[in-house]
Amino acid sequence: MLNRRAFLATTALAATAQSSPFSWPNNKRLAVSLTWDDARLSQIDTGLKLLESLDLKGTFYLSLPAMKKRVDGWKEMMRQGHEIGNHSTAHACTGNYRFTRALEEFTLEEMSRDIDNANHEIEATLGVKPRQFAYPCGQKFIGRGKTAKSYIPLIADKFDTGRGYLDEMPNYPQICDLSQLMGTHFDGIDFPAMKAILEKAAKDGRWVVFAGHEIGKSAPQTTDVEALKQLAAYLKDPAHGIWVDTVGRIAKHVNTNRA
Ligand SMILES: [Zn+2]
Repeated sequence: MLNRRAFLATTALAATAQSSPFSWPNNKRLAVSLTWDDARLSQIDTGLKLLESLDLKGTFYLSLPAMKKRVDGWKEMMRQGHEIGNHSTAHACTGNYRFTRALEEFTLEEMSRDIDNANHEIEATLGVKPRQFAYPCGQKFIGRGKTAKSYIPLIADKFDTGRGYLDEMPNYPQICDLSQLMGTHFDGIDFPAMKAILEKAAKDGRWVVFAGHEIGKSAPQTTDVEALKQLAAYLKDPAHGIWVDTVGRIAKHVNTNRA
């Protein structure tokens, strides 16, 4: 057990670590990554040309077998500089969703095999080995009750980052766990809502990792095209001091530049 002086010193150190300034490159005020999940077809059919016209690079977390429906499209995504991540094979979430095999029934060994299989299939098909992972439904456990376990250590072992979903707070770079990055909702919100998230994040230099699904006209589970166009103009305005890049590139900076 720590004595009082050691405890105070430890507390002071922790406070310093949390409050010490973290520098984004080129005096930027915050960082933003745009990410989409599930290998949804609209990401290729609508997103590919749109992102090219807006000169934005995203991170796409592919799940199987959806990825195989547009292999040429994903290859084109890569050619245009987008990042390919892993979103598992079975897309297992809590059984309460009732659309996949339940996380409550998984073992860590099965989860490990499921994720390795997706990485293997993506590498065999697209020639790139994903270094980023997105937790299906943002859920990070297997099992139930007293025998439930986190599979975050598995992701930490296999990937540079793991991203959650529908998390309330964007990432504070000095302290965030790269294996459980907060994912900010990107579906069904208009540009003013996106801007409000960025303005709040700019106050203490956070990293916003937007997490979306479809790309199209405003609808549930869809990043709205018009909102995305307005967002692009806002992100590109030098007055706002925003570094926009893939999860992999920003994570590398965070990992090597924080105290
Ligand atoms: Zn998903």
